[in-house]
Amino acid sequence: MKYLVIGHPIAHSKSPQIHQAFAEQFNLLDFTYERCLAPLDGFAALLAEFAEAGGGGVNVTVPFKEEAFRLCTALTERAAAAGAVNTIKCADGVLLGDNTDGAGLVADLLRHTGLAGKRILLLGAGGAACGVLLPLLAEKPLSLTIANRSVARAISLAEKFSGNIKITAQAFDTLAGEFDVIINATSASLAGDTLPLATTIFARDCLAYDMMYGKGETPFMKQARLAGASQCSDGLGMLLGQAAEAFYVWTGLRADVQPVLAAMRAAL
Ligand code: NDP
Repeated sequence: MKYLVIGHPIAHSKSPQIHQAFAEQFNLLDFTYERCLAPLDGFAALLAEFAEAGGGGVNVTVPFKEEAFRLCTALTERAAAAGAVNTIKCADGVLLGDNTDGAGLVADLLRHTGLAGKRILLLGAGGAACGVLLPLLAEKPLSLTIANRSVARAISLAEKFSGNIKITAQAFDTLAGEFDVIINATSASLAGDTLPLATTIFARDCLAYDMMYGKGETPFMKQARLAGASQCSDGLGMLLGQAAEAFYVWTGLRADVQPVLAAMRAAL
């Protein structure tokens, strides 16, 4: 069965090596997974052509996740909540849109700490933050706070997702109290920037998690470590987790993330 990751740009994508490694765990000899660069106005045509030719599924990356959301003929609950699709399963003429980012994040967080009853702070209110909120809330934290540079975006996310668990929206510099889990879903680390956060918000046994990944410590991880967070992690495990969830959506098989994560970490 054939699978693709479609994006623009796409050359940097690590998804082919990840999915090929998952397929090898199950000896899936007919599993192929390739990168595909779509022209900025060419995503819909590419997807239709691939599905008509019998393709099994597609991963979607920047900048096509919202367009994929509009094109899918059915959506999972988590994709509908996210308003964006990163995984499409093509079967029987149906394009089923899913979003596996949140499941990938939660799986990686749970490798470090439990989430039930915890005070969670989510930094950022862009696509990544929106995509992970439903799976985070499903873990039943004690509280969830969203802080963002543009506070209006944090307020609108809080309004959209508040239910049994109340979500509070804040600016970075008005955050008070302590948090047990602090997740950086801003792209500040990409630019080498730290965030204007008080050191007192990091509880003593706080897990500080940056969705960004790379070689060594990210700016947010360094900031958190200096503020006293006892555990700091980058987002490589989330990348692997969202891929494993997509692989499961397509094949029904649960890949072992750990050996692939270790190999990728060593190669960074
Ligand atoms: P978006 O462009 O949708 O959102 C960017 C967010 O970052 C906004 O909240 C924006 O705030 C904030 N921001 C940007 N620059 C700064 C800054 N200098 N200081 C403070 N806040 C800033 O990006 P995404 O949500 O798609 O991605 C966010 C991050 O998550 C990226 O680093 C991306 O690589 C990572 N990611 C990792 C994944 C993984 O698998 N590990 C998966 C998906 C994303 P404002 O609203 O004020 O502009």
